[in-house]
Amino acid sequence: MRPIHKSNKLAEVCYEIRGPVPEKARQMEEEGHKITKLNIGNLAVFGFDPPDEIVHDMMVNLPNAAGYTDSKGMFAPRKAVMHYTQGKNIRGVGIDDIYLGNGASELIVMAMNALLNTGDEVLVPAPDYPLWTAAVSLSGGTPVHYICDEQQDWYPDLADIRSKITSNTRAIVIINPNNPTGALYPVELLREIIEIARQNQLIIYADEIYDKVLYDEAQHVSIASLADDVLCVTFNGLSKNYRSCGYRSGWMVVSGEKSHAKDYIEGLNMLASMRLCANAPGQFAIQTALGGYQSIKDLVGPGGRLLKQRDLAHKLLTDIPGITCVKPKAALYMFPRLDPKVYPIVDDQQFAYELLAETKVLIVQGSGFNWINHDHFRVVFLPNTDDMTEAFGRIARFMESYRKR
Ligand code: PLP
Repeated sequence: MRPIHKSNKLAEVCYEIRGPVPEKARQMEEEGHKITKLNIGNLAVFGFDPPDEIVHDMMVNLPNAAGYTDSKGMFAPRKAVMHYTQGKNIRGVGIDDIYLGNGASELIVMAMNALLNTGDEVLVPAPDYPLWTAAVSLSGGTPVHYICDEQQDWYPDLADIRSKITSNTRAIVIINPNNPTGALYPVELLREIIEIARQNQLIIYADEIYDKVLYDEAQHVSIASLADDVLCVTFNGLSKNYRSCGYRSGWMVVSGEKSHAKDYIEGLNMLASMRLCANAPGQFAIQTALGGYQSIKDLVGPGGRLLKQRDLAHKLLTDIPGITCVKPKAALYMFPRLDPKVYPIVDDQQFAYELLAETKVLIVQGSGFNWINHDHFRVVFLPNTDDMTEAFGRIARFMESYRKR
């Protein structure tokens, strides 16, 4: 029979967080191994339950959630998102500028699909949350990576951004707070990025899904709140701030100067209608979440479980010879560096395979985040302190044996 190939559109698309190494982990589980999965920011499976009030309200509303909703989403949750954006000082956002989606993920792909033609370039951070690179490629565009500088708390390198702008550059993606590095950008840096966007007529796509997962009393500023004259599209949702990844509930807010973007917005509306609507139970969760006290605040504040785990994970990792790590100010991840003189890794996917085989711990190699060198990896700091000490102990022993090779 004629072989069935995947579409050429997928040639450049990859998503290693659920790629071949996790597939190997799945096979090992089938063989009876217990795998510690540090590859994905899935809060609920580590005992971070979603707030009771959200679960309750979704259950109560389930009988009302059987029909399709408006393709941008129901009025009340969109109104709640509108108030949320007002709380973050993003001005001029009306109900029509808000789109609800099956997680931010769906909307990221939608936003790229509505924009890009072959040859269009989008500036994406390296390292990035790899859905962004994948979504640009899938939409026929070309991701162009700008460097985030580990020596500068992983902040975007503005000179590198400027040097990569061409006549084909349409947009810049900012992930703040950042996955995988945990960086949180200061206002001055955001202003400089806006100035670059302004001068080069770029759309700013701001992924702010971790905007409440902040440590050490840090404050998050939405880039859209600083830029009334630049088109900004901001992404957020319940997955992380409200520990509800599985409810698939996210949103996208179009703000700033829109008068020249009518056609693009028509494209967004068309794609939103083609998928009919976001899942309705997940929409019902939004108003309750945004209106109440049940965010992640207690977990990240003084004495909070996530704060303790971040500190422990950082200590355990940086105690390993040859490993350094910028301490995250936000989000759920560490992106440690493996000194190439101590660990001369040529293929970091192979490194992840070997680590998995020997330790039964699943990490993601740095190249999975479009990082240029094979000298980083990402872990979540979600396991409780006992499980984390155990798993990181196994990693430390593996690294010791790696050094002796
Ligand atoms: N953006 C970033 C930076 C993420 O880390 C993730 C998930 O890990 C997403 C978006 C996807 O979020 P959602 O669950 O809303 O699709």
